[in-house]
Amino acid sequence: MIDNNCIFCKIASERKALHLYNDGQVAAFRDINPQSPVHILIIPIDHYDSIKSVTDELLIGRMLTAAKKVAEDLGVVDYRLVMNTGHQAGQSVFHVHLHLLAGRTMHWPPG
Ligand code: 5GP
Ligand code: ZN
Repeated sequence: MIDNNCIFCKIASERKALHLYNDGQVAAFRDINPQSPVHILIIPIDHYDSIKSVTDELLIGRMLTAAKKVAEDLGVVDYRLVMNTGHQAGQSVFHVHLHLLAGRTMHWPPG
């Protein structure tokens, strides 16, 4: 459930850090190194290394719903949702998370 060596598990245990969104199962907080004016991370409170370990479809849905809600709350209309999965795809924190990026023009394809 909780990985003591995981930075996002640590953040998830600090309720104050989750003021943007926290429904008890999914929470959101600002990225420490924002790649756009708005850069939020949406995570499940429980630890899963990546989306590959999440079998609960409701939880996956909750993460997307939370992202939509946070975007709405922040008044963000256009945004990009990204889930890097695995080292080659750019995942650096192995607690599954959805990036909500907004506030600038996004480029495609991503690097
Ligand atoms: P990934 O590279 O795994 O897709 O995304 C991990 C994200 O977590 C990065 O954008 C990185 O800036 C962010 N991050 C890493 N450590 C921390 C931290 O301690 N606090 C916060 N708020 N974000 C972090
Ligand atoms: Zn974790």
